[in-house]
Amino acid sequence: MKQSKLLIQTLRETPRDADVVSQQLMMRAGMIQKAAAGIYSYLPLAYRSIRKFEEIVREELAKDGCQELLMPAVLPAELWQESGRWKFYGDELLRFCDRKAKAELAERRQRGETPDEREFYNFCLGPTHEEVITDIVRKNVRSYKQLPMNLFQIQTKFRDERRPRFGLMRGREFTMKDGYSFHVDDADADREYWAMFNAYKRIFARLGVKFRPVEADSGAIGGSFTHEFHVLAGSGEDAILSCDGCEYTSNIEKTEAPALPAGVNEAPMELRKDHFRTPGVVGQVEQAAGMIDADHPQGMPLTQTSKFFLYRATFAEGGTKLVGAVLRGDHEVNPVKVKNFTGAAELELMPLEEAEAFTGTKTGFMGPVGLKDVQMLVDRSLEGAVNLTCGANRTDYHHFGLDPKRDLPGCTFADLRMAQEGDVCPRCGKGHYQAFRGIEVGQVFKLGLKYSKSMGCTFLDEQGRENPMVMGCYGIGITRTVAAAIEQNYDADGILWPWPIAPYQVHLLSLDPGNAEVAAVAEQVEKDLEAAGFEVLHDDREGMSPGAKFKDADLLGFPLRLMVGTKGLKEGVVELRDRRTKAVLKLKPEAVVAEVS
Ligand code: ATP
Ligand code: MG
Ligand code: MG
Ligand code: MG
Repeated sequence: MKQSKLLIQTLRETPRDADVVSQQLMMRAGMIQKAAAGIYSYLPLAYRSIRKFEEIVREELAKDGCQELLMPAVLPAELWQESGRWKFYGDELLRFCDRKAKAELAERRQRGETPDEREFYNFCLGPTHEEVITDIVRKNVRSYKQLPMNLFQIQTKFRDERRPRFGLMRGREFTMKDGYSFHVDDADADREYWAMFNAYKRIFARLGVKFRPVEADSGAIGGSFTHEFHVLAGSGEDAILSCDGCEYTSNIEKTEAPALPAGVNEAPMELRKDHFRTPGVVGQVEQAAGMIDADHPQGMPLTQTSKFFLYRATFAEGGTKLVGAVLRGDHEVNPVKVKNFTGAAELELMPLEEAEAFTGTKTGFMGPVGLKDVQMLVDRSLEGAVNLTCGANRTDYHHFGLDPKRDLPGCTFADLRMAQEGDVCPRCGKGHYQAFRGIEVGQVFKLGLKYSKSMGCTFLDEQGRENPMVMGCYGIGITRTVAAAIEQNYDADGILWPWPIAPYQVHLLSLDPGNAEVAAVAEQVEKDLEAAGFEVLHDDREGMSPGAKFKDADLLGFPLRLMVGTKGLKEGVVELRDRRTKAVLKLKPEAVVAEVS
């Protein structure tokens, strides 16, 4: 490919609105272009990397017999109503109405009515596809003989993220590989879970990045039946703790904490009336397991200025519970994952009197509360709403009107405390936790019967009895992974592409393309390399200094750079430079293919 013909505009300066390295470098290297917040075009170079990663994913999944299909991006509300998620998914789900619903709405308005527009929304953009795949399978699979089945797609997803940022790392529109498996029983679903777990290990290993599978929050489902895969990078939004004495590695949201030391539970706290505002629904909690949003920098130390909220959670399956949320005071309001919920719930802010009546305690009743016990979703609409500032008698041990022993039965104090770096690992009792930052690039999840039961996805077993299928789901953020690879592989001059997803492997620079000999030699090596199966971007641009070409080449960061210039050719050589090590090798043009191979 000739660079003079490539759609690319490199930038010397770092764009002002780019906050992380991958975003800065991808923008500077002319790989992505923003169309709107969190919505990007993938320009030719980026798209090559993305497709290469997709191919790795396809190849590895094929080894496990997964079948690829493609589902619609626009999804009917009916399916989401069937599963119950239409009500509980929250604002990440972009809902809208089609022409027919709009006409109905207009008609009602014409009649002088003032209907709520939201009731007319009958479609959404798919953020994930459990409902659609379950609908497909229930209509096409009848017998145990057809199971197990593992189906996946690689598709554009839309999630109306509260804070789209970091370029492709947290977009609103992004590419995801999402897979779903269907089984006759638990044991077979577990087998597939580990098969996918291993497939993901192969995928990220092939990519050539440092990654960790980590135990993640599986909420209501329990056990270790969800793992996230994290690319380790300082810019990662997730905190991971890993024991240096055993294998145990876990998202801090879920890491087991050692027992609470004595005496941390005594400092009294004041609950003040003016810290509560009028109640109203502020957000929904889906399932503790499949939480709506983890857009929260977990693992930060809670401080004296942390804020607390009391909520009433009304569960879809009935029952009400007092819960709380912890927000860091110096941080803007973030959604926080909810723990200790066992079902779908609506959350309402609770006025103080009600909270008191509910717990039967006057203000001042206390209990230790860590981030871990009362994580919850808080809508941005909350900003400035509640400011129950309270103190902590020790970092990570907070007090407010909640007695976890009573209000969160089944939890021990140790459950309620966030684990932290340096803690003794309770699994092996010997090692200590080390902290890492990670970018979540994938997640495997055992779903169980959640969708098959609510949507009637059943099969007939050998005895002809009807049973719900046991399901699993498996996601990889394709575009996020490509960005994450850059977060881990760059230097001051630009990107250091891992070979498997480099847009091109060799950057051939004609240093004096006007010179006939240079042009001829460069042309020949380009042909030879391509014939040998290498991908070459040939910088044949005229009227550019070698220095400027070097700068661009470093920025684009393909693994090998081959320089052809008059000076070298006088000695009969071209120069091959390794982008990562900067080692330079002089060699005869006809020796290039052998050297690169
Ligand atoms: P996060 O915790 O970062 O919000 P998630 O847990 O909501 O991610 P999943 O529902 O597990 O995401 O989706 C599967 C994968 O899709 C994630 O592991 C991640 O790699 C990718 N992904 C999720 N949200 C985004 C996004 N906004 N932009 C890019 N990739 C994303
Ligand atoms: Mg999310
Ligand atoms: Mg997550
Ligand atoms: Mg996830």
